[in-house]
Amino acid sequence: MLFGGDKNSKDATWKRKYYDSLEQLEVKEKQWSSLETALRHAMANLSIAVEGVDKDLDQQLDVLRHAIRHGADGNKIAGLVRPITDTIERLERQRKDGHRVTPASVLESLLDKLDLPKGAARQTRSLKKLINNYDNTSNPKPILDGFSSLLSESFVLIASNKKSNNDKESGSSGILGRMFGKSSDEPASLSESEYKDATEIDGAALQLTSGKEIISILLDKLLLPTDQKEEQKQFQQNLKGISSEKELNRLAKELALLINEALPQQTSKERTSGSCPEFTINEILLQLLERLDLSADLQQDMESLQLRLEGDVPEAEWPQILSSFASLISILRDRANREKREIEEFLAQLTMRLMELDDHIQSMESDRVDSYKNGRELNISVENHVRKIETGMHDAVDLDQLKSLVRQRLDNIGQHMDKFREFEEKRNDISEHRIKELNSRLQSMEKESIDLKKKVVEERKQTLMDSLTGVANRMSYDERIEQEYVHWKRYQAPLSMIVIDIDYFKKINDNYGHMAGDKVLQTLAKLVQKNIRETDLLTRYGGEEFVIIMPDTDQKAAMGVAEKLRVETENCAFHYRDTRVDITISCGITEFKDKNKDNPETVFERADVALYKAKDAGRNRCIPG
Ligand code: GH3
Ligand code: MG
Ligand code: MG
Repeated sequence: MLFGGDKNSKDATWKRKYYDSLEQLEVKEKQWSSLETALRHAMANLSIAVEGVDKDLDQQLDVLRHAIRHGADGNKIAGLVRPITDTIERLERQRKDGHRVTPASVLESLLDKLDLPKGAARQTRSLKKLINNYDNTSNPKPILDGFSSLLSESFVLIASNKKSNNDKESGSSGILGRMFGKSSDEPASLSESEYKDATEIDGAALQLTSGKEIISILLDKLLLPTDQKEEQKQFQQNLKGISSEKELNRLAKELALLINEALPQQTSKERTSGSCPEFTINEILLQLLERLDLSADLQQDMESLQLRLEGDVPEAEWPQILSSFASLISILRDRANREKREIEEFLAQLTMRLMELDDHIQSMESDRVDSYKNGRELNISVENHVRKIETGMHDAVDLDQLKSLVRQRLDNIGQHMDKFREFEEKRNDISEHRIKELNSRLQSMEKESIDLKKKVVEERKQTLMDSLTGVANRMSYDERIEQEYVHWKRYQAPLSMIVIDIDYFKKINDNYGHMAGDKVLQTLAKLVQKNIRETDLLTRYGGEEFVIIMPDTDQKAAMGVAEKLRVETENCAFHYRDTRVDITISCGITEFKDKNKDNPETVFERADVALYKAKDAGRNRCIPG
């Protein structure tokens, strides 16, 4: 034991008691503090619950909540609660004075709470008018239709800022329109004229376009006993076939009879309230709730609202219910706004990508003809993807699906573009390589052709030239004599020929060697070339025999040239290795004479005969032929 003896035991008891009471006090303090927190929370929540009932009250509650949040002490809170109590008492008095919450006032207050876009102001006014004319016994369907149509239209307004019918169609069939697309018997989004009809049905203003339509609506709304349902259907069928006013009147009378038959079967309560039972604000709001197409995460909020609306709602709870209702709608509106922004961003991105693509394709197309096909294929593929995105936008159930669809399509387009680029780059590389190759081949071919041309010219020259003496050869002679002969035959201009043969040339070769003979041939060729005209042609006909073709030269002139050549040769004082070698030539000269008989062969023959005459006559002489 820790404390021994009597005194010690007493001390211990007191100490224990002291500690126990201290502990209890701490526990109590904790309880009080959590109680205070709970009270503060409850007060704050309660203040929210009554919000919206009265403007003064709202303001006072706001101040109270602020004070609670910032830990104001009990005195301050009590000071703030006092005026709130006064206001509540005032409100209670007013309520007792007949100011009670009606479906109309609740709906109107809901409308006020919704921060609807400016474009919906006209529709909001019409709906308010409709609500003001509403009493609990009339059918609330026009109000419900008007309400959901207004909400739907507001979201479409937010999403598109356009009012064309097409836009409305796409708004109601796309994601945004589907938010309010749930309706039991007709589409939630009414057309403008339908909306007008719905909002302007009040008393005498029930002006529908024709009696047929009125009867049709009446038939639809009639709650007839089951055994009369068939007749009701038949009436609808007959109504369609009616073409004149008379027929319509008859049908209306028949219908009145049918209704009379049906009336006694209904209960007295139903009869007094008419075919339309009393609608409470709870039912109206429940129906409105059903029309909101809420996503899974908001289902819980909706269900708790539904639960509250299904039971009896104390009037004090209405502001809180309406606030929850309004906040549900505001969440939906925010989502619509966000989705709209995201869609816009996506579309902008998509447009940019497509524009880039288009630019690329266009530049590629203009660059090369070959890429046309490739570009076209890419264009078709891009068009297909864009079309799929467009249909996808209509069919997409939510933004995530749309996002992944657009992303997937963009990826596909990107892949096609990469393939296209790859293909184009490869093709460019190949064609550039080919062009380079072709260019170098072309250059070398050009060079080759120039070389070849030179070679050909050279070779031709070679083939026409005697390599030893450098004068024209026998082939040259054949070619030229043919040309001159043709010319002579046509123009009859004089054309002569000298055939030269070196005298005793064999002896030169024999006496001085073959080299000396070659030198003699070269020397004679030079000597002759020097003494004839440029238009004349000296040819080595073969061995030591030369022929001169002389255009525009008659035989007499040719004789003069031959004689001059003979003399010059005789006097040329040719030396070979310091030894004088005497050279002489003999010549036969003739000209083309008889047009009918003369030709290159006969003329040469005549000159050759003359040459041999010169040889025979002793050599070193010229003889005409
Ligand atoms: P002629 O006075 O009757 O003409 O007697 P020739 O000796 O001149 O005539 P021939 O026909 O008997 O001899 C011609 C010689 O010319 C024979 C040949 O060896 C020689 N000859 C032919 N071509 C060449 C050549 O290109 N160079 C040399 N060095 N000699 C050649
Ligand atoms: Mg000779
Ligand atoms: Mg000879």
